[in-house]
Amino acid sequence: MMQKMAHLHTPLDIPAIVAFIDGNYSGGGTPRPGEISLAHHGVLFLDELPEFERRVLEVLREPLETGRITISRAMAQADFPARFQFVAAMNPCPCGYLGHPTRMCRCTLDQIQRYQARISGPLLDRVDLQIEVPAQGQQEIFEGPPGEPSDAVRARAVAARERQTARQGMPNSELAGRSIDTHCPLNNEARTLLRGAMQKLGWSTRAYFRVLKVARTIADLDGAEVLTASHVAEAIQYRRVLRTA
Ligand SMILES: [Zn+2]
Repeated sequence: MMQKMAHLHTPLDIPAIVAFIDGNYSGGGTPRPGEISLAHHGVLFLDELPEFERRVLEVLREPLETGRITISRAMAQADFPARFQFVAAMNPCPCGYLGHPTRMCRCTLDQIQRYQARISGPLLDRVDLQIEVPAQGQQEIFEGPPGEPSDAVRARAVAARERQTARQGMPNSELAGRSIDTHCPLNNEARTLLRGAMQKLGWSTRAYFRVLKVARTIADLDGAEVLTASHVAEAIQYRRVLRTA
């Protein structure tokens, strides 16, 4: 199945990403879905995330939590579906070479911190998998071992998805409230590890439950029913690339 993908570059303003209204504001008009609703049941990819206006990024918080977006204007209000897979990419610093094996980053610590701080804590809270992709040297590109074939990865993902549907009738990401406790059983070691990480890393309750659901998915990929410490440890690692405050 082909998934639709909205691929957005800057600049974009809030009406473009959320919705726009036909006609002028004072005369009303018909609200129409913007890019995030057009990405419903697809992928919304924001390249160079810190380059987006902060107000635009904060608008994403509502749909990432609820799968819907509400827009209100004086004469018009509309509620649109917006359940999308959010994918974003960013450089580690303004020049892009922080951590590069051969090029030198010329950014100051202050510039790096300000650049990364454009992604607010509450938005970052809603990003479940945060992964650093190191720049590859030429030797690794030409002489490195081949990766796992996509067919094999796809088969594993499909099997994990089927496990979720058979167990609870929905994907893990949609579990909420008591159903999280019911369907994400932890062994003692896993529970201790997860609670310890929450305290040490200062996670919100939201982050705690999101990590738990990611660990549930890792266990499903592993074909395991009960979450173990290794499933939880992997889920914790996906939340440690950028600062958490
Ligand atoms: Zn730099």
